[in-house]
This record gives sequence, C-alpha cells and structure tokens, in this order.
Amino acid sequence: MTHTRIAKIVENLTSTCIQKPIGFNDFIDELPRSGELMLRNIFQLFHDMVHSYISEVVDEYPGDSESIGFLKYNLDNLFIHDTQKPFFADRLFSNRLVALAKSFRTSAVPNKIFIFKGPAGSGKSTFLNNLLDKFEQYMHSDKGLLYEVVWRIPYEAGIGRGASETSGFMPYPDGSVAGNHPPGGFLEIPCPNHDNPVLLIPRKHRADLLKEIIPQADLLKRIFKHRQYQWVLKNDPCTICSSLFDALSERFSIKEILSMIFARRYLFNRKQGIGLSIFNAGDDLDKTIVRTNDTLQKYLNDFFKDSNKVHYVFSSYAHTNQGVRALMDLKSRNVQRFLDLHGIISDEVHKVLDLEERIQSLFIVLMNPGDLEQIARGEEMADGTIDTSLKDRIHEILVPYVLDYHTEIKISILTFGDQIKLRFMPHVLENFAKIIISSRIKKESKAIKEWVKNQRTYEKYCDPDFFILKMELYSGLIPEWLTKEDRDSLKADVRRAILAESEGEGHEGFSGRESLQIFNEFYSRYSKKRPITMGHLNEFFRDENNKSRDKLPRDFLKHLTNLYDFEVLKEVKDSMYAFNEEEISKTILNYLVAIPHNVGDVVKNPYLGNEEFVHSTDFLDIVENHLIGYNAPFYQRVRYREEAITEYASYTLAREVHVEGRKITETKQYQEMFAQFTRTARESVLEPYVNNNNFRCAVKEFGTSDFEKYDSKLKEKILVLFKNLNEKYSYSTDSARTGIIYVLDNDLVHKFKP
Ligand SMILES: [Zn+2]
Repeated sequence: MTHTRIAKIVENLTSTCIQKPIGFNDFIDELPRSGELMLRNIFQLFHDMVHSYISEVVDEYPGDSESIGFLKYNLDNLFIHDTQKPFFADRLFSNRLVALAKSFRTSAVPNKIFIFKGPAGSGKSTFLNNLLDKFEQYMHSDKGLLYEVVWRIPYEAGIGRGASETSGFMPYPDGSVAGNHPPGGFLEIPCPNHDNPVLLIPRKHRADLLKEIIPQADLLKRIFKHRQYQWVLKNDPCTICSSLFDALSERFSIKEILSMIFARRYLFNRKQGIGLSIFNAGDDLDKTIVRTNDTLQKYLNDFFKDSNKVHYVFSSYAHTNQGVRALMDLKSRNVQRFLDLHGIISDEVHKVLDLEERIQSLFIVLMNPGDLEQIARGEEMADGTIDTSLKDRIHEILVPYVLDYHTEIKISILTFGDQIKLRFMPHVLENFAKIIISSRIKKESKAIKEWVKNQRTYEKYCDPDFFILKMELYSGLIPEWLTKEDRDSLKADVRRAILAESEGEGHEGFSGRESLQIFNEFYSRYSKKRPITMGHLNEFFRDENNKSRDKLPRDFLKHLTNLYDFEVLKEVKDSMYAFNEEEISKTILNYLVAIPHNVGDVVKNPYLGNEEFVHSTDFLDIVENHLIGYNAPFYQRVRYREEAITEYASYTLAREVHVEGRKITETKQYQEMFAQFTRTARESVLEPYVNNNNFRCAVKEFGTSDFEKYDSKLKEKILVLFKNLNEKYSYSTDSARTGIIYVLDNDLVHKFKP
C-alpha cells in the first residue's frame, strides 16, 4: 500500500471518528442552514431515521379515490441489509411503523410507552436490535446531525489542584485525567442529559434570537407554529446546565458564558448506553441510581468557592435523555424497570437526590401477549385488569407473525436461496406461503361478509370464509376476479374495517421458525421434481402423518386449488388466443350491414370501402354464436337480429352517426358487439382442443424431435402458446407443458364454464 493511500485511509478514519465540538456562535451560525436537523427532539429524529431507510414506496393503484394509503414500503435497508439477522416486516407492520413515525412528526411529546407486542417467534427482538443498530448508524451519518451541550470552563491557576496534581488538566467525562493540556486550558463538562445547545439561549430571548438569525420564513413558521417544535421555545435546559449558567453569571457576562458553551455531535453508542440502551430481563438492577463525578465536582466546588452552586448529579436515565430506552421483554427485572418508566412518564420529572431531572426519551418495550395482565396481577389489581393510569400511558403496536404472503415468500427465498423460485410452477410457491398464513388467520371476516354482496359469486375459486380474498387485501392487492360491483363498493371505510381485523390475527398458527421448518421438510422431499406443482403441495399437506395440517382451516387446500385451477386456465386461454382486432372489427361491421338483407344477397360494405361479400347462414351462425352463445335457439337468434336492425337504424345511425357525428366504430352498438365477440372468442378458445388427442400429444412432445411430425398449423398454435406462457406469465418450458396438460387432464374448461 502506498503512503498516500494509507494517509487517505487514516484521514477518512479520523474524519468519521472524531467530531470536534464547535463554539456556540458556530452552532448559531449553522442554524439557518441545518436548523431542520439540529432542532429535532427524539421523536422527530425517530421519524426522520425511519424515513431515511425507506428505499421505495409503491402505490399499486395510483389515483384510486378510495385509497387509504396502505402502501408498500420497502424497509429492507432498515431490517434486512447489513444486519446480523434479518427481520421481515410485512406490509401491515411496515404501515404501522411508518404511521407511528409520522404521528411523531406532527405531534408534541407523546408521553407514552411504546409497547411492541407479539407472540414468541414473531421476531420482536430482532426487530428491536436492527432498529437500534440502524439508529446508531444514522446518528453517525450526515442526516443524523444533532448537537449536545458541552461546557468548557476556563482553567484557573490554583484551582483543581486537589483534584489532580497535573496543572492545566482536562478531565474527561468519565473522570480520568488527560495531562499536558496547554496552560490557559479548560475543564470540559458534558451535559449528562444531552441538552440541545439551543436551550442555553435564555428562554426570554430565544424567540427573538431565532427570528433574527433564521432568514427562511417557512422554517421559522414551523418552529413557531408546529407542535413538534414547541419544545424549542418552551423547554429549559437541565438542572445541571441551569445551575452552571446561574453560577457563572455571578462572575461572567452572558457573552462570556456563551463562549464557554460548545456544541458537539450527539452520537448514539449502544454499547456504552449513550443515547440508546436495551435492558434484558436478566440485567442487574442499577444499584447506584445516582451518578456523580468526584473529580468534576471537586473542581466545580473550588471554581465557585461553594459546594452548593452546582451539583453534578444525575441518574442513569440521563444517558438516554433525547434517546431511546428499551426493555427487551417484560420478565423478571424488567418488570420493575417498566413500572419505573411508567412513573417517569406520568410525572415527567423525577428526583435525583434533591435535584429534579426531566426525562424525555422514546421508551420502547417488547412483550408477549398477556404479559401486561400478568404484571397487573402481581401489582395492585388481583384480577389482572390493567390500571387505567397505566393503560393511558401505553401505546401498543402489534408485531404478529407475517400475514402478507409476499413477505412470507421473501423469507423462504432469503433463507433457501434465489434458485428455489425456478423449481416451482408459477403460483405454487405463493400458495405455499398462503397455506402457512392460513394457519394464522382464524376468524371469519365480518367486514368482508358485510361488503361482498353475493357471496356465492366466488364459490368456484374462493373459500367461503374469504381467507384467500383477505390475504390478497393484506398484501395490498385487489384481485382481478372481483366482480365490478364488489370492486366498486370496496370503499375506504370497508378497506379500513378489513385491515382493522388484521389486528386480531397473526398471534397463533405457525411461527416464523415453524414455517421455515415446514418449508425445509417440503423442499427436501420435492426439490428433485421438475417442476414442483400444486399436486405436490396437496400431497404434502394432506398427508395424514403431517401434523401441520391440523393447523390449517378446513378445506383450505381445496379452495386454494380451485383458485389455482382458475388462474392456470385463464393463463393458458390467454396465451392461446391470437387476438386479431382487425378481423373481429371487420366481422362486426359486415354483420351490421348484412342483417337487413336476405341470405344469398351480395352486400356492399360502405365502412370497408364498399367491399362486397355474400351474405350466408354460416356467417350469421359464426357471429351469433359469439354474440349470444352457441346454444341460443333459432327464435332467440331471430329476435336478436330484429332488435339489432332496429337499434342500428333508429339509434346508431339516426342519432350517433348523423346527429352526433360519431364514427361507426365509436357507437355504443358496435362497441358492445365488439366486446362481446372478443370475450367469447377468448373464452372458448380452448374448446376445440379439449378432446383433441393430437393437440395433447403435441404439447407433450413440444421441444423434442417428435414434435416435427405434426401439421404446421398445430405446431404454430402450440409454439405461440408456449411463447406467450413464458413471456406473459413466466412459465418455463417444463412448467408450461405441465400446466397445459394439467388444464386438459382436470377438464378445467368444463369446471369453470359459466
Ligand atoms: Zn444540561
């Protein structure tokens, strides 16, 4: 390595590690530029931190007027990338977390304990570990810019000798002494409460000063009007800083005092418990709750020639003032800690010896369902009801098992590798995830039952309890198979009601760990299959020796297979249909022109450059089969034709074409016929092949030399089918072949015939 490179690395290291304090004037100077960052309390900071890790927000239905903002937030940077162990936030949880952060942005101090509640195995502790690690990283980045007060009291000869024999000393916060400080040095006293330096502008001058130095009207307006900035004008510095300020003002001018105030980066350090602390249930309770610093205290006593002026005394809570204090669970010693937090939140201030300490932290507690009731039983309420004063101070955020199947798939892929996707037929991996999630959804949905008008509409492809529908909605998707009527009545309040139901779900069923075990067992049994099909899923979960099946809702596999059948059939049909709009358009136009004529007449079509054609019964049959169905009796066809002739003359031509000046292709009659023709053509595209053995054999032999023996029309048809299945629906050749044969073998055309 060259010297320059080493020098560069060292320079990078030092610039990131050392954050030199800046003078108070420099702090003030920086406010107009970075005030937005520098004037954040812990709650706004949390908001900004969470948002800085959101890499993408997807709204699948932009412009949907009934949207309730249930969006897809990508939180991988927060919970997955660069972590020791990933946490998988599903769409429901991500929305909850983002909503919580947003609520911090627009409110004053919430004064609550934030409880993240979820069953064992839901990944709560991983969530908290990752969240706080990323918070620490954030504070070290430019976006985490925040300052705290550090005092530099000028060294005065003769003072402090009792504390240290070295003259010109500068004790560090922990009481150790750094020697060789130049004469005329100072004593550095950090504010143990991590006060924001802005608080040291005397309160009565603060508003004026901010108006003076901040030129941006919008920033000023926010500071003065918005609730989350209230503290900037309202709060006082901590007791230590206030008393230091007062004591100094007996000997120094305000200007001189301000020159002793420095601002240094407030950097969280989880290991040292600065800004962030996580307590495990087994951690010893802090016996010496009161923290002091004898060296510093001695110096202050000497400096002010009075031992009562400034008491450098604080509690362990000071370390996480304007930071995060978290309890890993609500067991053994953490119960006492939890009750202490409750006391602090309720009273806002607490006493440390004689001094008042005002603590403002983000308190996070993880717990299992029932823990709180347990505490209530142990405390005052014998019956386990929770004291209302405690209840009022609690905000619960649920961390249940994953309920969004996309997240469940992501877990399998991240655990077992990307290649597993290739082993499964399309939909089958998704369906594995849905089966797992079905064990976690136990309730029938009142909200869905009130919303869906005719529940029998979906019996061919959705379960009667609508678990399948619910899963789609939980993952933010509105299934295409909903009727127009139900799609239209899926209003915002219905969506809210459905999502609200998720709050009661995901607390039982397969845990994350169990889900991985089941996948592992499944995959080791079927990974040799090419491809893994819905049949394999059925075989696995219906196996009598498989204990997992007891946790699944009754008949869920049957209904899920129905939906699968419906989807595969649709995809095969879609891929089979060679859509020729021009051909259909020409057919409809000829039909409209021909029907007033007699069969056998030569008809000229004015819409097609007076092209001539012979009107025939065959032609009528083909068109009417598509428009009113193959089984329509003769009299119905005649009536249909007569009505069409009337409509064409009296409305289509008389009104739309002649009065409104529309083109024939823009009229209602034409468009309805066109749509119906297309629908039928698409619908019945497979019918000629259902019992065609040649077709079936050719599909099986596709890709082999035997395929060549079929006639070229059939070959072309099958080639297009495989190509479309691949391009439109991601089927590999193997999957496509399996899928088409599956459709034929199970007579799906017949199963879903309207
Ligand atoms: Zn302070």
